[in-house]
Amino acid sequence: MINIIFLAPPAAGKGTQSDFLKQRYNIPHISTGELLREETKKGSEIGQKINEIMISGKLVSDDIVINLVKNRLSMPDTKEGYILDGFPRNINQAIALDKMLEELGKPINYVFYLTIDKDLALKRTCGRATCTNCGQIYNLKFPETMPSKPMTCDECGSPLFVRQDDNEETFLKRFDTYISETEPVSTYYKNKKLLFYVNSGINKDITFNQIISAIDVPEIK
Ligand code: AMP
Repeated sequence: MINIIFLAPPAAGKGTQSDFLKQRYNIPHISTGELLREETKKGSEIGQKINEIMISGKLVSDDIVINLVKNRLSMPDTKEGYILDGFPRNINQAIALDKMLEELGKPINYVFYLTIDKDLALKRTCGRATCTNCGQIYNLKFPETMPSKPMTCDECGSPLFVRQDDNEETFLKRFDTYISETEPVSTYYKNKKLLFYVNSGINKDITFNQIISAIDVPEIK
């Protein structure tokens, strides 16, 4: 089993790295941001509330997110492993996760903490665009990650969209929320000796190589 968690400030690249890992190890990428965005698309009253909280840059209530994660981790495709992107985001969620993983028999193996400079994260956030169909992520502020045709996916030709919370104002609030609520979770995992720091401010392939070199260490017998 390869059971992975990503801890990172907004736009540090946890979505991109999770997708790389999903392809390499054939395990599901579980993004709580994505699960919540799916809820908002249902048009229900609760979906509307979730959307407002996401745009405010704050955290959605623990009960809602913990339930979503519990249901998702109970699915059979997590048998060989999972990649949790965006959960846990506070200590209460980390404790709830430990409890559910113990019950499910799927303990965490690696927690990757992606480090990035705040200004670079802001630049990445404000240029991010995602494919409406295949989820491929682009960045309109960096020539190397722009789509070849404006707002069109190179992979499948579908239109790209910009997330409602990917703007400077919401980014600054999300970053503050990260520092006050999520950063302390790193100490929680450091104490459990599960934490790996990875520099995510250079190049996504270098970041990926650092991650897989931690996972693919040959066992000493
Ligand atoms: P992300 O896609 O990970 O950047 O998350 C987008 C937004 O979804 C966050 O700013 C939060 O409002 C909400 N969110 C995602 N994951 C969680 C979580 N584990 N707990 C509470 N809110 C979350």
